Amino acid sequence: MRKTEIIILGGGAAGLMASCAAAQILKKNGAVLLLEGNQKLGRKLLATGNGRCNLTNLNASPAHYHGDVPAATPLLEQYTPEAVMAAFRDMGLVIKPDSEGRVYPRSLQAAAVLAVLRRSAEEAGVSCMLGNPAISVLKTKRGFLIKCADGEEIEAARCILACGGAASPKHSCSADGYAFAKALGHTVTPLYPALTQLLCKGKACKSLAGMRCPARAALLADGKEIYAESGEVQFTDTGLSGICVFGLSVYAAEFFALGTIGGKAYRSLSVSLDCLSDWSFTELCDYINEMRTAYPNRMAGELLDGLLNMRVGYALVQAAGIDPARSAKFVTPGQMQKLASLVKAWRFEITGTKSWQDAQITAGGVPLQEMDPLTMHSKKTDGLYLAGELLNIHGDCGGYNLHFAWATGLAAGEAAAKSLMKERKS
Ligand SMILES: Cc1cc2nc3c(=O)[nH]c(=O)nc-3n(C[C@H](O)[C@H](O)[C@H](O)COP(=O)(O)OP(=O)(O)OC[C@H]3O[C@@H](n4cnc5c(N)ncnc54)[C@H](O)[C@@H]3O)c2cc1C
Repeated sequence: MRKTEIIILGGGAAGLMASCAAAQILKKNGAVLLLEGNQKLGRKLLATGNGRCNLTNLNASPAHYHGDVPAATPLLEQYTPEAVMAAFRDMGLVIKPDSEGRVYPRSLQAAAVLAVLRRSAEEAGVSCMLGNPAISVLKTKRGFLIKCADGEEIEAARCILACGGAASPKHSCSADGYAFAKALGHTVTPLYPALTQLLCKGKACKSLAGMRCPARAALLADGKEIYAESGEVQFTDTGLSGICVFGLSVYAAEFFALGTIGGKAYRSLSVSLDCLSDWSFTELCDYINEMRTAYPNRMAGELLDGLLNMRVGYALVQAAGIDPARSAKFVTPGQMQKLASLVKAWRFEITGTKSWQDAQITAGGVPLQEMDPLTMHSKKTDGLYLAGELLNIHGDCGGYNLHFAWATGLAAGEAAAKSLMKERKS
């Protein structure tokens, strides 16, 4: 049987960071063992930020998280974006924020983030076992007994669970972490896929698939605005996508999983797009009227050509019930008003979100109330720590989810190593 002092299950973002933090404190080769079920470490990390890895956000604060936010606040206040950026700088990574506070490696390569983490872990004496997932974790008198898929057994004094969530299974070997946490006395809240595309009723989106347009996207529950974000909306074969839509999907995911948003029950969900949020309704009506008067022989379908993405403008004209092939002069004042209303509030009925395969993160998980708020030490099992997506917290799009993985990885790794040091001294 193999023995180690700290075992970390999962060599993704949180597990890699935890292994570096723990090994740097213990300063002993092989004292930390990182067990990864895939053949390679950090597969999901390589896919983050479209291969560029949006690793944190200068605005990372509790306001950008959902789930057990109050219980996560002490941790987020301790492990700020500055602390996370300092940890990466210490590993030799040069980082750069963009104008909206999203932080990337200067090289814009997720591979560079993985490379510095892997090298730092090696240099600190972390041992890695790859391609051999854990299949069970038992609490014993001396610590933990981990059984691996190939039959190998490992004994460890401390265990950090960092197996990630259920989202994007193609990048992860499993969602076993929830079962391990349950076996060790924890509960798991309902899980649902978040940061994903919204599925819409009707053919409007399909006809515009591939088109992008800047818009203010508002999520309406039973007709009332719940949340809105501005940004570039992308039309797809099945609905709406884009970073601002991902922001709405966090609420939509809860609705489709539980029938609630923020715990309150609703019956229907729609998205309203304002495709020209910096213009008033009156300005828009005046513009359409001017265009019709100045160019009466242009086709009605061309009325918005000079203003919006042309395909989007054409679709809006059709949606307003105007024959796009007729001359603009035949468009009535009522139709012009309807067109302006649609540009400002184009409604799409939402029928669902994309599934786990396409989601970036898991909403739900192990309640933060079951953890020590600063160390991520389990209140249920002594010597156990949890980090990353396994926990019941998820962030907005923009680097907040990786920030939480680093923060909890640092907290758990440091705390597990310090508790061992303390035990050695006593
Ligand atoms: C396409 C995509 C793009 C994203 N882009 C961003 C972004 O730019 N910015 C951002 O903040 N967030 C982004 N995210 C979210 C971010 O990747 C996750 O929040 C983060 O990776 C979670 O870290 P984690 O360590 O908890 O889990 P993971 O990174 O998923 O790591 C968990 C690891 O545990 C391993 N594992 C699972 N079960 C076992 C087992 N039984 N035994 C051993 N090992 C096991 C898995 O193979 C995996 O390697 C993105 C996600 C996706 C899918």
